[in-house]
This record gives sequence, structure tokens and C-alpha cells, in this order.
Amino acid sequence: MIPYGRQSICAEDIEAVVEVLRSDFLTQGPAVPAFEKAVCERVGADFAVAVNSATSALHLACLALGLGEGDTLWTSPLTFVASANCALYCNARVDFVDVDSQTANMSAEALERKLAEAKIAGALPKIVVAVHLCGQPCDMEKIHGLSQQYGFHIIEDASHAIGATYQGLPVGDCRYSDITVFSFHPVKIITTGEGGMAVTNRKDLADRMLLLRSHGITRDADKMTHAPDGPWYYQQIALGYNYRMTDIQAALGSSQMHRLDGFLLRRRELAARYDQYLASLPLKPLKQISDALSSWHLYVVLLDNADSHSAVFNFLRGHEIGVNLHYIPVHLQPYYQTMGFFAGGFPQAEAYYRCAISLPLYPDMSDADQQAVVNVLREALDDCHAN
Ligand SMILES: *Cc1c(COP(=O)(O)O)cnc(C)c1O
Repeated sequence: MIPYGRQSICAEDIEAVVEVLRSDFLTQGPAVPAFEKAVCERVGADFAVAVNSATSALHLACLALGLGEGDTLWTSPLTFVASANCALYCNARVDFVDVDSQTANMSAEALERKLAEAKIAGALPKIVVAVHLCGQPCDMEKIHGLSQQYGFHIIEDASHAIGATYQGLPVGDCRYSDITVFSFHPVKIITTGEGGMAVTNRKDLADRMLLLRSHGITRDADKMTHAPDGPWYYQQIALGYNYRMTDIQAALGSSQMHRLDGFLLRRRELAARYDQYLASLPLKPLKQISDALSSWHLYVVLLDNADSHSAVFNFLRGHEIGVNLHYIPVHLQPYYQTMGFFAGGFPQAEAYYRCAISLPLYPDMSDADQQAVVNVLREALDDCHAN
């Protein structure tokens, strides 16, 4: 089976991990701040907080921005469930903003309309999570403008998008957001096995996330309620979690950061080849906006004929092509339906779900593998249209 995505691990990556295993610290050592520094420098953010997953990073980001009971977070229905669940962890409500039919990212126009209605109803969101689907940045300038007008915070869920650029600058510099979150799950752009990171330019948010990453415990005398009892002393001053990343993971992350440009180059090359090979077929790729460069986490095609969707998908899977579908709209999940969401609520996201297929794309994919995917896809479309 040609998978839809997979990690690339080289000898240097393995050596970096082994080096930590032979060192004094498997966790809470120097590899974590070194990885945080490498990501900060690359994406142009002032502060970074490495954690054990992007899900944890989203949770900490919401907590740092003060999300709680009575508040609402809005995000795209076309995302992994974690982009929405982070609000529920904070006892806040979730709502969704429908996507743009061409890019499948949150529609800034739909957001604008929904904000105008919410203002009248007195139900504005506290946070909007902008998800850079497939690695393509959202219309951040417009979303940021709306945040100024309506007074909400912005988290960028850039789980797919480390290495992407927007208006010529890296995703993660947070010039249009409060916090940006990355994922390092093995199918994403770089990996730490499991892992994630929140980056920000605001020291207060970084400090809050650092505190909550490790139980709400501080060793900083300035933050304590009284002078330390002794050198052993620490204080718990908030209810935090153990969301720490290990040094083993961070060393792999730093090593992968050295390879990021190579990964991006190959992903962009494969995406351009798909564009070319698929141009004459009855499907279209997601539209790419002009002032951004995707990191190409995923290559999604939308079939012209939604009626053949299952048949084409099954044909590909049956011929060892590990296609996938990103994503099942979150509001259609049974857990979300118990909260009152219903089919038909976000028609563009649902239309996408009926015709989208993620084709295999990963840096170690060979040209021959890609050719095989294209050949089987062509066969699938012929076969399914003939029937
Ligand atoms: C993968 C992913 C997450 C969660 O990442 P983890 O590191 O697995 O917790 C969140 N949001 C999106 C859009 C993702 O693709």
C-alpha cells in the first residue's frame, strides 16, 4: 500500500535520538529549549512552548487566552476534531464557520456575516481558531481585521503548515494571531513521534502556557506567595497538566528542523507534478490563493462527479493506493450532534466531504509511486464513469 503520508527518518535523526538516550536527561533537559529556539528562529516568533501534542498546545492556548465557561470558540468544520475539542476542555461552547468552496479553508466572508449576526445577538466568540487546511494559510489579514473590529482572539491551527508562508513571511510569526500551534505527529511536515508546539510573541501568554504545561508549578520566587522555604521549594499556583515533551522527542524535532527545507521542496515538487498529471481528469485540486505558499501537508482533489466518490475511493484502496479523506466535518460527529449540530448546518463543508480525496504525498514518495497513484486514479475514474 502506498500510504497517504508517512514520516522520513534518516541516520542523523536516529543519531540525535540515541545521543539523548546516552545523556543525563531524557526529559526536562536541554534538548527541549533547543528545539523551541530552532522553531522560533525559523518561524519568526518570540516565544515557544513545546508540548506532547498539538492537541495539548491548543488546550494550553485556549487556557492562556482565558477561555472558560460562558465563552464560545469558533473554528472550521473541516478540521481534525482537536481544533474544536480544545474549547470543550475549557467548558466553553463551540460553533463553526463554513468553508470557502474553492480552498476549503474557513471563509472570511462567512466569518464576517456570522460575526455581524452574533454581535446583534450578543454572542460574539472569544476565540477563532483558523485552521490552515492541507498547509495552505487562511485569509489571515482579513480574519485579523475582523478580530480588531469585533474583539476576539485568534489561534492559528498550523498543524499542517510549518514551513508555509503567507504574504512572503512564515506561518508562525503570529503577526495576525495571538498564538500559532504546530503538530509533530508522524504524518505531519516534521515529526517528534507525538508532539506539538505553541508559539507566540506575547510573553504573558508564553509564561502562562509554560506554567500550565507542567502542573501549574513554579520555581520562580517572584511568582510565589512567600519566600521559598529552601532550595527544594516549589509552589503550585494554578491547576496545570503534564503536557511536557521529552528530550528524546525534542532531539528528533531539532534534527527534523534541519531537514524542513528539503521536505518542503519535495512536497511542493510532488504537488506541482500532481497538478500537471491530473489537469485533464474530471476533478480539481483545491484552489491556491495567490499571496501564500502551502507546505503541502495534503494534496486533496475534489471529484466533479460526487456520485462516483465512494466507488473511486474504494477502487484506489483496492489497488493499494492508501487514499484518505480529510476531514469528516466535525459537526457531523455523533458527539457534536448531541450538542445540537445537524446535517445541513454547514453546506460547503458537507459538499466537500462528498467529493474530496487526499492523494498520497510525503517527502520520500518516489516519482514512480506518484505515477502509480495517477495511473490507478485515471483507471478508477474511467471505471466508475463507465458504470
Ligand atoms: C493533527 C492535527 C491536530 C492534532 O495534532 P496532535 O499532535 O496529533 O495532537 C490538530 N489539528 C489539526 C488540523 C491536525 O491536523
